[in-house]
Amino acid sequence: MDKKLLGIDLGGTTIKFGILTTEGEIQQKWSVETNILDDGAHIVPDIIESINHHLALYNMDKDQFLGIGMGTPGTVDLEAGTVVGAYNLNWKTTQNIKQEIERGTGISFAVDNDANVAALGERWKGAGNNSDEVVFVTLGTGVGGGIISNGQLLHGQGAAGEIGHINVHPGGYLCTCGGHGCLETYTSATGVVHIARDQAEEFAGDSELKRSLDNGADITSKDVFDLAKQNDSLALRVVDEVCYYLGFACANIAALTNPEYIVIGGGVSAAGDFLLTRVIKNFEEFAFPTVRDSTHLKLAELGNDAGLIGAASLALKFK
Ligand SMILES: [Zn+2]
Repeated sequence: MDKKLLGIDLGGTTIKFGILTTEGEIQQKWSVETNILDDGAHIVPDIIESINHHLALYNMDKDQFLGIGMGTPGTVDLEAGTVVGAYNLNWKTTQNIKQEIERGTGISFAVDNDANVAALGERWKGAGNNSDEVVFVTLGTGVGGGIISNGQLLHGQGAAGEIGHINVHPGGYLCTCGGHGCLETYTSATGVVHIARDQAEEFAGDSELKRSLDNGADITSKDVFDLAKQNDSLALRVVDEVCYYLGFACANIAALTNPEYIVIGGGVSAAGDFLLTRVIKNFEEFAFPTVRDSTHLKLAELGNDAGLIGAASLALKFK
């Protein structure tokens, strides 16, 4: 009988669960709220209880599963199956999640960080076309990423694939990491708004975006892209700057591992082809010829399921 995979996407507000086939098809999905009280001490017990409850509900047995794979915020020790420094979960000290979840469910468990598993998901069932050479860039509140080379996720000494902290503008905007000019500060949702505010100060033309900002309106990156699509002159300049930095970063990423695809996902990528075509234009300007011709930029395809599917794929190693 074909065994199943159990995927978990652990986030600061919800924990998503899925039962998948070894081909990556989602058969069951559910979620629970993340209880981050008491230094996040309820999270792992809640995960164990939810798994055991749902397996009973579906009349399934632990022996039907190849394993559990989970994506989590924070710094992961792959071998030990521990996580530390997941501040949106209130996990400040080292959490022995592998040991606890294996003991609580009787199922083998593997874990990696959330951006890495989203990369695995897009590579396996999304825009990555199951290629062995894929880089995933996610543009959300921050900018994250994952690098798959020779079919393997790169971890380096733990921080490989931290694409958000590639420096694209020395001396530029201050980043949460303490540096100045990281990609994240220009191309995350907050970065887009930051650029808009800065450009609005000096902009003299007619623009609805400028009027909104001057009137103290609370704008989002989606507002900026929506206005740009309506030809708002300031919004177009902001989008040009965002796409300049993203294209520049993609050209440099491509020179490192020469991926077949660089997949762009996350909330900001909802701007779609309007974003992608402008990023490609910059990429083509900055990439050297061999890379320019062989690395292709694409939009992500799985949306919120990328994390769940990629997490489940971690359990394939128990085959
Ligand atoms: Zn940074």
